[in-house]
Amino acid sequence: MKSSRRTFILSGAGLASALVLAKPVFAQAAVVSESDANAAPLGYKADATKVDKSKYPTYAAGQVCANCLLYQGKATDATGPCQVFAPKLVSSKGWCLSYTKKA
Ligand code: SF4
Repeated sequence: MKSSRRTFILSGAGLASALVLAKPVFAQAAVVSESDANAAPLGYKADATKVDKSKYPTYAAGQVCANCLLYQGKATDATGPCQVFAPKLVSSKGWCLSYTKKA
């Protein structure tokens, strides 16, 4: 009986340690890839200067995620959350067809 309680307490402590060690993995969100199933149809590019202007004529130089209404990160950050691709992060220098100029 005591043995199973001790085993339970020890395994609980082990689980708590594992969760503490795993925390940084959960805290870091993944970054959208241009080939992601939801990114490719929107023409997402991590570098807006690489947008195919003949395929996406609405793109204009200077349009980047950092000045898009749907971007929720700081303009100075390399990546940030985007309402379209949540929970993944987008490049602040990126662009996609859903670009909406921040007012
Ligand atoms: S919606 Fe805006 S912030 Fe999100 S990927 Fe497209 S251009 Fe970037």
